[in-house]
Amino acid sequence: MIIIMERNATKVQIQRVIDLLKDNGFEVRCNVGDIHTVIDAIGDKTTLTPGRLSALEGVKEIKVIREPFRLASRDRKEEDTVITFPNGVKIGGNNKPVAMVGPCSVEDDYEGLLQVAQAAKEMGCEFLRGGAFKPRTSPYDFQGYGEKALKYMKQASEATGLLTVSEIMDASDLPMMMDYIDVLQIGARNVQNFKLLQAVGKCNKPVILKRGLASTIREFLLAAEHIMYQGNSNVILCERGIRSFDSAFTRNVMDIASIPVIKKYSHLPIIVDPSHGTGQRYLIEPMAKAGLVVGADGIMIEVHHDPENALSDGKQSLSIPMFKDVMKRLNSFNNRLHYEKTCLSANVE
Ligand code: PEP
Ligand code: MN
Repeated sequence: MIIIMERNATKVQIQRVIDLLKDNGFEVRCNVGDIHTVIDAIGDKTTLTPGRLSALEGVKEIKVIREPFRLASRDRKEEDTVITFPNGVKIGGNNKPVAMVGPCSVEDDYEGLLQVAQAAKEMGCEFLRGGAFKPRTSPYDFQGYGEKALKYMKQASEATGLLTVSEIMDASDLPMMMDYIDVLQIGARNVQNFKLLQAVGKCNKPVILKRGLASTIREFLLAAEHIMYQGNSNVILCERGIRSFDSAFTRNVMDIASIPVIKKYSHLPIIVDPSHGTGQRYLIEPMAKAGLVVGADGIMIEVHHDPENALSDGKQSLSIPMFKDVMKRLNSFNNRLHYEKTCLSANVE
């Protein structure tokens, strides 16, 4: 890291910074300029954190050169992480992008869920998504059917062969969810629930980590780091839009650039969720395509057997006929993209 001292930092203040760095095993080079003294320090930032140093009198600014997320970083692992499921489905690397589809909430209507699951299977999707525990802004909104919903998810998975994704909100539900679900989802509202991140980090299930409503990309990757730090490196990131000032036409602002940025700095797979990213069903197809073009490893789309009467997120859910139509086009778009990418990498070699 680089420590920039204040214009009027005293010799004593400068020496204190140097001594503290050296005491903590840092290699230090001090450059005394006409105005500022700048100290280069190479060493382990876990023994002496930039935050601790910035509290010293006379320190103006600290620039950290290496990204603070280590396990999630490309510096640590150059090749893409690929997550492989027992049925052979793979996410990440040069594998074909996956599709995760299903209702926002699993409702007390197994037949409805099964219809969605069957349509998903027919259209070549790999995952059924469905919420059992719903993080709702208002306590008066539908909160999810809990274990009953998870049972429906498992039943639909057994009927179709689809893998399942569902959100976990409370670490105490983990042992129960392990029996029903193939991928745990951490929702946007829990991206900085560090106890929950640690809990899923201690299990071996793949985790979809959604970007928080106001997470910077760095904070998002540090949330993934919390999971990986506990030993679970099967993390799939999900760009689902962030809050901005203009919500007149879209619920969130889907940050398309975050996908190639994350690909540049991290080896983890990342998918896009245009349903939550935009809040509008007519925007699902174009934004899913946009995500795929910039390198997403998969898409997550809300589909409901009766969106107009859905208990949550009906406005951003596709009906089954709409979904089939959209998916037909997305599949051929995806095949073309994948073909081009494969040719491109073959030519490069
Ligand atoms: C969801 O997937 O239904 C959901 C609540 O997503 P998010 O956490 O992105 O809002
Ligand atoms: Mn939803």
